[in-house]
Amino acid sequence: MAASVGDCIFCKIVRREAPASIVREDGSTLAFMDIQPMNPGHVLVIPKAHAAYVEDLPGEAVGPILEASTEISHALRTSGIRCEAVSFYLANGREAGQEVFHVHMHVIPRWRGDGLGLRVRTDRGHLADRKELDSLAAKIRAAMGRSAG
Ligand SMILES: [Zn+2]
Repeated sequence: MAASVGDCIFCKIVRREAPASIVREDGSTLAFMDIQPMNPGHVLVIPKAHAAYVEDLPGEAVGPILEASTEISHALRTSGIRCEAVSFYLANGREAGQEVFHVHMHVIPRWRGDGLGLRVRTDRGHLADRKELDSLAAKIRAAMGRSAG
């Protein structure tokens, strides 16, 4: 069940009705510290407009999320916080690990041996069949209403 704008915790943060340690704000995005960080310095970047999924956002609201995330990534690397690399992670749907149904990009400081990572299937690493890749690409193109090339 998707939360309505009224009881969405991230909308409450946008309205300053819930506490947050704010990192960055612009006209369409807000960034703040994750209250359950995967590593110290873990930031969430959200659109100010409520939308459960990326696809529900107006087009002009999508790009600024990555722009804000990029600026924060650069800052993390120079902040003095332990950060050898940065993961951007956006869970788009429950089965992808989304827990708060207001779009949010995780920006997470990483270092060698930090123990984080996507769990992958044991058969990952075999080269996919080209016919299968072409077939999957065709389905995605068709869904977008785009032709090949
Ligand atoms: Zn919301």
